[in-house]
Amino acid sequence: MSEKPNTGNGEAATAETDVDVLIVGAGFGGMYMLQKLRELGFTGRILERGDGVGGTWYWNRYPGARCDVESMEYSYQFSDALQQEWDWSERYSPQPEILQYANHVADRFDLRDDIRFNTLVASATFHEDRNLWVLETQSGERHSARHCVMATGCLSSANVPDVKGRDEFKGAWYHTGNWPQEEVDFTGKRVAVVGTGSSAIQAIPVIAEQADHLYVFQRTPNYAVPARNKPLTAEERDRVKATYDDLRALEKSTRNGTRFEVSDVPALAVSAEEREARYRAMWDNGGLCYMTSFGDLLLNTEANETAAEFIRERIRETVEDRDVADLLCPTSVVGCKRLCVDTDYFKTYNRPNVTLVDISKAPIGEIAPDGPIANGEVYEVDAIVFATGFDAMTGSLAKIDIRGRGGLTLREKWGEGPRTYLGIAISGFPNLFTITGPGSPSVLTNMLPSIEQHVEFIADMISYADGKGTTSIEATFEAEDEWVGHVNLLAGKTLYPTCNSWYLGVNIPGKPRVFMPYLGYPAYQAKCRDVAANDYDGFALG
Ligand code: NAP
Repeated sequence: MSEKPNTGNGEAATAETDVDVLIVGAGFGGMYMLQKLRELGFTGRILERGDGVGGTWYWNRYPGARCDVESMEYSYQFSDALQQEWDWSERYSPQPEILQYANHVADRFDLRDDIRFNTLVASATFHEDRNLWVLETQSGERHSARHCVMATGCLSSANVPDVKGRDEFKGAWYHTGNWPQEEVDFTGKRVAVVGTGSSAIQAIPVIAEQADHLYVFQRTPNYAVPARNKPLTAEERDRVKATYDDLRALEKSTRNGTRFEVSDVPALAVSAEEREARYRAMWDNGGLCYMTSFGDLLLNTEANETAAEFIRERIRETVEDRDVADLLCPTSVVGCKRLCVDTDYFKTYNRPNVTLVDISKAPIGEIAPDGPIANGEVYEVDAIVFATGFDAMTGSLAKIDIRGRGGLTLREKWGEGPRTYLGIAISGFPNLFTITGPGSPSVLTNMLPSIEQHVEFIADMISYADGKGTTSIEATFEAEDEWVGHVNLLAGKTLYPTCNSWYLGVNIPGKPRVFMPYLGYPAYQAKCRDVAANDYDGFALG
């Protein structure tokens, strides 16, 4: 059985094989991968570090956590029965409801029998002699299979700043992406939030309501647009459900995988009044569609500035203290970092129990036992919330010691930045696939349809290779090289490389500065279809 203890001889022979595919991670990617493989007659097993399904939605339980893509779209479409039977309660789902949905999917498709929870994968080694992947867990269990799918998520490796004194802090500290399962109550507490990205922007208004006093430590201000969340009525849900196929088809045709297509019109081609009206309409609608207002917002600095200034005006209009408003106004390109979606974020700074601490000139260099030290002052708090983001797209893969042909490690291979073919496969690592890996559109799109597209591509490819009687599928070096060049070329034509975003990896000290996602969801899907239609062009079948 696949759970023999590690005998220490490192041979594949000690880990017997009883499934076709091992999957790492029981988030939305891993769960659908298992289901899809079953549909095609393969067997699979998921190894999951948590004790439940849901991936990012299992770990991100911080106050105020909710999706910034609309619920009716941020859901699976592979089963029409599933999408018809599930009722989302709000325009943007709160984390507990998304987790409930993930659990419903696991039960409905009987996935739990093939999921090993509390199983942290420490290494994955390809054994060339048998074309097998052997995965070893932290506790020494070994599992092996011909194929291995990394469904480890794009934003699942928490970035906790290694600040001097952190572990001597007398109070409790948390990271938004690794939140405890039990409820954390900040009532009557003095709380510090470090960071002002999407997670912080959702958490701050909720924590401010509970806390005695909240200090927000801001290194860089961020643009945020109102979510305008609201309950969904039965009529609204039914209307979408009646035409779900059309909505799903539309999502596939837009650049972000949602129903909002980016306008073709350049921002400077219209009058100032027209521009303002367009921004106002998007602002009033709420959500990420703001960036679809004009076609060149991420191509032309001057165009971008018009969209940026509109948001700054709204910040100045909302925040009563002029100095605080100025500190909250970003100066960078809007959308260069992922736009945040908020509920009452800027308004929260009008509360008497909220203090914005500007750490743009000097970082928090130390945490004293009583609280963070910034600008020479100790901020005495009972709890610190690090809303400091993730080692995105590559972090969870880098934590696993992945070894391909000739013992090449993925960490070595990606030493100067990730290299993949289509964000799905890596030359030198046969039969290993990544769901929404670097080099795929993933994080720039609605993740659920992107995940489904990857799962279906991978499952079909495994099926194709199996049908041909081959034992290995591997991206060729040439195809990978060309793809990496293409990803970089597209990014280089935009304003994305102009700021220090996690898309570029620069939020993590020492991580190479490389733009990781692929720009262009419809073009990407077309490329995948072409690859499949041409006998998996760019892959070598062995
Ligand atoms: P993030 O966008 O990377 O923001 C991290 C914040 O922490 C930034 O303000 C950053 O400042 C700050 N920071 C990092 N290290 C710091 C340090 N050592 N000292 C002080 N400040 C520090 O992370 P996130 O907010 O968790 O969001 C990450 C992504 O997750 C989002 O972009 C989004 O894609 C996804 N997300 C989605 C939702 C949703 O669906 N609604 C919610 C949350 C997150 P700098 O800007 O100066 O680096």
